Amino acid sequence: MYKVVFVLGPPGSGKGTICAQIQENLGYVHLSAGDLLRAEREREGSQFGALIENHIRNGSIVPVEITCSLLEIAMIAREDANGFLIDGFPRNEDNLAGWKRQMGEKVNEQFVLFLSCPVDVCIDRCLHRGQGRTDDNVDSLKKRVDTYNQSTFPIIEHFEKLGMVREVNSERPVNEVYADVVKVFAAANQQ
Ligand code: UDP
Ligand code: MG
Repeated sequence: MYKVVFVLGPPGSGKGTICAQIQENLGYVHLSAGDLLRAEREREGSQFGALIENHIRNGSIVPVEITCSLLEIAMIAREDANGFLIDGFPRNEDNLAGWKRQMGEKVNEQFVLFLSCPVDVCIDRCLHRGQGRTDDNVDSLKKRVDTYNQSTFPIIEHFEKLGMVREVNSERPVNEVYADVVKVFAAANQQ
């Protein structure tokens, strides 16, 4: 059984930044669904490149079979890991259902780390982070935020009802956010 922590929050809430630190210090392997999709988009011979780019620009969500397979392949490649941080997934009901179908029997979901941050702050961060992403522009960001509000937030609420959500306010300097995140992991791993 793979141990999994889902990391969710609006675009620009700091998921990638915080996951990198957890990976470095706490021994979880960081798998960003967005990064895996971008790598697949760039991969020579991929039949999904154009489809992925369309979804990324539109802030819409790639069919779960593609994303979930990329995640599973990445997990198999790191079977030695203590646990996995799955960053930016599941984002909607299709993602959640597909994950359960494909991975339900193979994983133990530990908790959901929810990085909460006001949307205007998040948008500002994305517009200034200079990562050269094709979706860090005002048009794409509006769509990404809509998708987050309409599709992803209900997934967080779903996990909340199951008592699985650990919320950390990420509208603060990274070191402060990370300090609270460490406490969340310490508490979860004590149980
Ligand atoms: N994406 C997707 N499924 C996923 C993760 C990402 O379809 O499970 C697509 C989606 O179009 C999203 C984009 O990839 O807007 C960028 O995702 P990422 O997590 O990198 O960015 P975020 O919006 O969290 O900053
Ligand atoms: Mg990200």
